[in-house]
Parts: sequence; C-alpha cells; structure tokens
Amino acid sequence: MEQLIERAAKDLLDSKHAIALTGAGISTESGIPDFRGPSGIWTKDPDAERRAYRSYERFLADPKGWWQERLTIPSLLGDLEKAMPNLGHYALAELEKLGLLKCVITQNVDALHEKAGTANLIEYHGSLFKLRCMSCNSRFGRDEFDLEKLMSENQLPPHCSKCGGVVKTDGVAFGEPIPSDVAHQSLEEAWKCDLMLICGTSAVVHPFAQLPRIARQRKRERESETGLYVVEQVQAVTIVEVNAEPTPLTDEGISDYLIQGKTGEVLPQIVEEVKARLR
Ligand SMILES: [Zn+2]
Repeated sequence: MEQLIERAAKDLLDSKHAIALTGAGISTESGIPDFRGPSGIWTKDPDAERRAYRSYERFLADPKGWWQERLTIPSLLGDLEKAMPNLGHYALAELEKLGLLKCVITQNVDALHEKAGTANLIEYHGSLFKLRCMSCNSRFGRDEFDLEKLMSENQLPPHCSKCGGVVKTDGVAFGEPIPSDVAHQSLEEAWKCDLMLICGTSAVVHPFAQLPRIARQRKRERESETGLYVVEQVQAVTIVEVNAEPTPLTDEGISDYLIQGKTGEVLPQIVEEVKARLR
C-alpha cells in the first residue's frame, strides 16, 4: 500500500494534466446514503425508485404537474444540505491548489466537492442545489426562484430569465441526456488527461463509464478542417483507482493499479507524500 501511495504521488508530480473522477464512494464517507447498497435509498423504498425511473418522461409530458409533485413530496436525500465534505474531498481540493489536479468530474449531486473548495468541477449528473434551463443549459441557484410563490400563483414551471426556456432541477434524471455542455467538457478532459485518478466509483453507470475507457484508448477523434474524421494519437495515460474493492475497471485492465481503501484515508496520504516530495 505504501509503495502504491508513493507511486501515485510520483505519477501526479510527473503529470501535465491530471484529472479525477469521483462517485458515490467518496460521499458515503460523509454519511450520504447510496441508492442500491444494503441500506440504500431505493433498497429501502422501491416506490421511490419506480417514481425516479418515470420522472423524466413525466417532466417532458407535464412540467407543471411534475413541479407541483416535486414541491409537495419530501426530498429523497433529506438532510443533504447539512452534509459536510470529508478528508477525501479536501485532499482533491488541495491537489488542485498545488496545481497538480486540473479538474474533478463527479457523478455526485451533493455539492460536497464545491463545499470543499474544488474550483474546476464538472457535475456530470448535475447538482441537487441547482436548477437548469432545458433550452440553454443556464444553471441557477435554487434560491434564485421562489418556487413556493410560483406554485401558489399557478405559475409553474419556472422559466429561464435568459431565454424563457422551461427550467428543471439540475440533477440528471433516468433517461435524461447528460447536458450537452457537461458531456462535451468531460469528453475533452478524458481525451487530454495524462493521469486519471478514479475515486470511489466502479464506473459502471453509462455514459460516465465511457470516460476511463476513452482515456484508455489513447486516441482522439476529431473533425478535421476538411470535414473528415481523423484519429490522432495522444500521449499515454496513467489510470489510478482508489476504491474499497476491485471493480470492472480493475478486472478489465482499464486501470494501471488499484490502491485499495477508503478515499478519505488514501487520498490524504497521497497529498502528504506529494508535499513531502515538493519540499
Ligand atoms: Zn435558458
């Protein structure tokens, strides 16, 4: 384990464009329940899961009814607002401040990376604390709309102040496409990174799961100036996993090595090792 921490620190220091991908594993250490684990939200409440699967379809068919229901049933994640980042989140924020980590792409909707101070953050599945315009992708804080008032005045759904489009919660629902700006930025990062740190995710949910696989391909497809697709080789990427258990990424050889353990313990050790080498 110690050798792998040293190896990860060295790989970070040798990298030119390191990024991190994070998932539920980094948030469960902040007491945020996952969805499908033994005490997961949906394991305990299958009706909520069935509702979640129908949600996007219902939003498209009846955004007003969808918002009314949204504002009258209690939020799934309860006291999420009170949740605090843990040492894993802070370690990634510190690596960014040291200039070693260029971007964090998270599947989590809990805003804990933001709270920990990560500046260049891509919230792949959105944020529970934001709303998003379905037409122009503008994001708004929840407090920028008085949703209760809109409901009482029969003015739902909320509309975008920039383009007039219908506004939804930012969290990406089942069947909802990943917002185009986020999808594009994430692909760019996966293409250009030379080090990918995968923290607390087995990366099995698509299309997020493509990102490590795209990075592993070491190829880049882009529309050339002549309009033809060209494939240009980019430099090799090192993929490091920090996960509690081996994952499909480990088994398929997508990752170069796995540091097995809790993100809240392993990531701070990597930061310490990096700082020791910088001294
Ligand atoms: Zn808009």
